[in-house]
Amino acid sequence: MATILDGKKIADMRLEILKEEIEDSGLYPRLATVIAGADPASQMYIRMKHQACKHVGIGSVGMELAGDATTEQVLRAVTQLNSDPDINGILVQLPLPKQVDTERVIAAVHPKKDVDGFHPFNLGLLFSARPQFVPCTPKGIMTLLGEYKIEPAGTRSVVVGRSIDVGRPMSALLTNADSTVTLCHSKTRNLAEEIRQADILVSAIGKAHFITCEMVKPGAVVIDVGINRLNGRLVGDVDFTAVTTIASAITPVPGGVGPMTIATLMENTYRAAGMRTCDTAW
Ligand code: NAP
Repeated sequence: MATILDGKKIADMRLEILKEEIEDSGLYPRLATVIAGADPASQMYIRMKHQACKHVGIGSVGMELAGDATTEQVLRAVTQLNSDPDINGILVQLPLPKQVDTERVIAAVHPKKDVDGFHPFNLGLLFSARPQFVPCTPKGIMTLLGEYKIEPAGTRSVVVGRSIDVGRPMSALLTNADSTVTLCHSKTRNLAEEIRQADILVSAIGKAHFITCEMVKPGAVVIDVGINRLNGRLVGDVDFTAVTTIASAITPVPGGVGPMTIATLMENTYRAAGMRTCDTAW
């Protein structure tokens, strides 16, 4: 049976350490969140992020815009937060309403306050193997692998899903960690065959139980990023019960990658507080 990679336990442990570091630092990090509209899932994620801030001693403020907010209105909120010296990190909750130009909004966040790591400048640094702010989900996965002493160097890894928030930065991080990476997506031919090559498999598709036992190489490390609803329950992309019997290690859903994402956001925000964020130049 596979080792369960307990993201909840590791995240809680790291948050306790961070809380002490913040206390000792004399810094008072502050995170601002921006949300537009009343999507229940987005509102829940925002609440969880504010709760985590409170727990570790990070101040947090929330800007709430209407669901019919324009791109200009969201940009104005971001610009205001960019120029506020008391704010260290800015998180724009995605997805934004469809009338809002998400690319423009992401590019408007000051790179030094970009604790989500989605700004093209930060993604460029990551892909140049000189990371500054790295998207929280893939960075949290690397931390989890590290905590369980799983070494990517020399392995073959397969990432399924090529989004900017998960799949692409995940492939860059694994490449930077000397794994040989295949990045798959909906147009990949012979997907099951590609997946079966993986010593480390990361699935970020958003399809319940898409990854079956037959697709997984015996002994693989399986990281399930997916969050899907199936028959009223939260499940991942991986058929957990079956895959547990052949993988060497696996993350559960819930309790795997999700808590690591939030812990990493807190770590990124603390890091931002250590920078001179009122500078306008990088
Ligand atoms: P996304 O932007 O929708 O991207 C999904 C990716 O999966 C795309 O690259 C898509 O390929 C690929 N894909 C879809 N169907 C596929 C198929 N049948 N075969 C191969 N590839 C397929 O999603 P995301 O933001 O990366 O999120 C993915 C999942 O992770 C969602 O369930 C989301 O809720 C979850 N998530 C969890 C966390 C966490 O902290 N646990 C954080 C972020 C996201 P194309 O590019 O070709 O369309």
